[in-house]
Amino acid sequence: MEQSQIDTLRAMPVAPQQLLINGKAVPASDGGVMEVLSPIDGSVLTTMARGTKNDMDAAIAAAREAYEDGRWAKRSPAERKKVMIRWAELVEAHALELAVLGVRDNGTEINMALKAEPGSAAGTIRYYAEALDKIYGEIAPTADDVLALVHKEPVGVVGAIVPWNFPMMIGAWKLAPALAVGNSVVLKPAETASLSLIRLAELAHEAGLPPGVLNVVTGEGAVVGQAMGLSMDVDVLVFTGSGPTGRRLLEYSAQSNLKRVYLELGGKSPNIVFADAPDLDEAAKVAAMGIFRNSGQVCVAGSRLLVEASIHDEFVAAVGRAAETLRIGDPLDLANQVGAVNSEQQLLQNLSFVEKAIAEGGQIATGGNRVLQETGGYYMAPTVVTGVAPDATIAQKEIFGPVLGVTSFTTQEEAIRIANSTDYGLAAGVWTSNLSRAHHMVRAIRSGVIHVNTYGGSDGTVPLGGVGQSGNGHDKSLHALDKYMELKTAWIKL
Ligand code: NAD
Repeated sequence: MEQSQIDTLRAMPVAPQQLLINGKAVPASDGGVMEVLSPIDGSVLTTMARGTKNDMDAAIAAAREAYEDGRWAKRSPAERKKVMIRWAELVEAHALELAVLGVRDNGTEINMALKAEPGSAAGTIRYYAEALDKIYGEIAPTADDVLALVHKEPVGVVGAIVPWNFPMMIGAWKLAPALAVGNSVVLKPAETASLSLIRLAELAHEAGLPPGVLNVVTGEGAVVGQAMGLSMDVDVLVFTGSGPTGRRLLEYSAQSNLKRVYLELGGKSPNIVFADAPDLDEAAKVAAMGIFRNSGQVCVAGSRLLVEASIHDEFVAAVGRAAETLRIGDPLDLANQVGAVNSEQQLLQNLSFVEKAIAEGGQIATGGNRVLQETGGYYMAPTVVTGVAPDATIAQKEIFGPVLGVTSFTTQEEAIRIANSTDYGLAAGVWTSNLSRAHHMVRAIRSGVIHVNTYGGSDGTVPLGGVGQSGNGHDKSLHALDKYMELKTAWIKL
């Protein structure tokens, strides 16, 4: 990838964005639009449709009609697979265009965006395309005078609501398995990161997905997201985002048709470093990237660093050095390693968490401030706060920014106690050369994923999800397919 290719793409104007309902780009029913801001320099990139409740209802009706007439659900698995593979190929062919477009409204550094956004989305679409004709029902071991069949059927209409960090990657985690098994989908992207998802859906249609099977409604969560949550005609709602919104979705479900709701929520993930870690320098660099990549806007970010007291000072110094050498700035400049915070509101919230940390006794080891304000963009220095008590606000609340809180411990049992002392349970890391300790920690830490002597690695073949208030249900892997299918028993007297 050349800088000049990126620069050409970033200079291209972005057309006003519309809703995608029943295969057609349409304006909001009341003509409403909202500005799309660039976190790179605060400029207005374009406008997008501010959908209404009527628009959401129309999209759900289109999805229902498409599902019921079988234009996608009743196609043979081989045909669905062909369309989805073509879709993955189109995403690959347009990878740089998609990545740059996504960075322009969400601010992720381009090196990471290219892999994590179109790269991951294409991989996910391909994975579920390949899986969809390998899903079998069952014959149950009943008595001889009965034949009991267990069918797996699509649920019908799936509603998907996604956040602004990694919109394409997370969007594909929902869209690909839902569509693979024959459902129709309505997608609600985040207010501040919709561009790449609208393009992703256009490519699905170019690949041959019939109209109405995938609809996109942009707009405010409290309006179109709520309308989706309260709909009587959405069968399953899949969500990635914050805890408070997740809670609302459960309430909407209870107030409407008891739709199944799967939540992928936040985290406050502990990265635990023992003095016997195999390579402390490497651990420090990885710990820094584990929180600072994408400006900390990563659900599994290792935002709590628990360090054994005997190595605390030297390890924190090494993490500080790693943080200070990161080049922050324009996310579309290939030389930069950390891009922009997604919105000014998020940046100000990050800074207020830092103030709170100091008020509660923490000390800033590095960072703590806004940088590059003269660009008009939203940038924050990678920040390390030491002396964070396990019950301090920044040890308990998700910040979703480039802020690392450090807490020291003296025994393994204390490390486990502190690690498990939040409401969350999404990810964790442990660094040790002691194999028994590593296994013990894997069992003792309450989280959906735990990394040993690394942090943040993943793959489409393994599930991602949390425990506790990090949510339920899993994205990725074959396990994710279960969310999008119903079991139906046929009991046949012979
Ligand atoms: P958010 O909850 O504010 O918004 C997420 C989505 O919900 C957006 O599309 C928004 O428009 C919509 N929404 C907002 N209010 C709504 C309402 N009342 N009804 C329906 N929809 C509504 O979250 P965010 O700030 O965009 O995303 C960051 C959060 O996502 C963090 O907490 C992060 O940890 C989490 N996250 C989790 C994972 C995971 O896999 N567990 C992955 C990425 C991000």
